[in-house]
Amino acid sequence: MPLVIVTGLPTSGKTTRAKQLHSYLSERIQGSPSTPSKYRLHIISDQTLSIHRSVYDLSATPAHTRSANASEKDARASIYGAVKRVLSDRDIVILDGLNYIKGWRYQLFCEAKAVRTPSCVLRIGCSRDQAREVNEERLQQRQQGGEPDKDGADAASEEKKQETGQEEDDAYEPGNWENLVFRYEEPNAMTRWDSPLFTLIWEDDEAQTKQVFDSMWDTIAGEARKPVRPNQ
Ligand code: ADP
Ligand code: MG
Repeated sequence: MPLVIVTGLPTSGKTTRAKQLHSYLSERIQGSPSTPSKYRLHIISDQTLSIHRSVYDLSATPAHTRSANASEKDARASIYGAVKRVLSDRDIVILDGLNYIKGWRYQLFCEAKAVRTPSCVLRIGCSRDQAREVNEERLQQRQQGGEPDKDGADAASEEKKQETGQEEDDAYEPGNWENLVFRYEEPNAMTRWDSPLFTLIWEDDEAQTKQVFDSMWDTIAGEARKPVRPNQ
């Protein structure tokens, strides 16, 4: 299906849904000893690439250099590289992240087209208040867990990182969070690069989630899948 671009506000439940999609797809693509699986499955996120939340923080950047926020650009370059390395007609890539810039989603859409594989956008719908609450809870947990060190990561998360080999989902600094919400560019199903557009909201239960995943599968990997023409 090959590229699934997850998008949503910070702390809106993107990783939760990306993991659910990952386990749904793992089952769906399972082969058998006689017929090996047609697809390989990948999940790429800031966590898998060890990109820290602070790269999105413009408050740390002087106003006159804002347009050239180098750390975020570097982060995007490494995400782009990671997607490009694995994306193919036989590799399903779930890109779990903010993906909040429409020009960036357009770039990913073009990349998928270039390797003749379909792409789609999965929007995680969540109210600002709900998402803010999640971030505030995480900030509180961080404060209880210990004082942040100079890189902004607290001792507990550092320990967990070593145990699991992955950075846990950390909180955003409040100013960073508000600013990302302000900068967020909603996907628009009328544009080629944001379609097909699928939506899951916070309240969607297992049955509804499965229904959305089923229709994603049908349009992008199943029988109804249309051939991808690079010049469309
Ligand atoms: P994001 O990846 O957008 O930062 P997460 O997926 O890490 O968000 O979710 C943030 C928190 O909200 C997690 O603690 C998660 O358990 C909880 N959460 C996410 N989605 C839901 C949901 N649909 N219903 C209930 N809790 C959720
Ligand atoms: Mg996440």
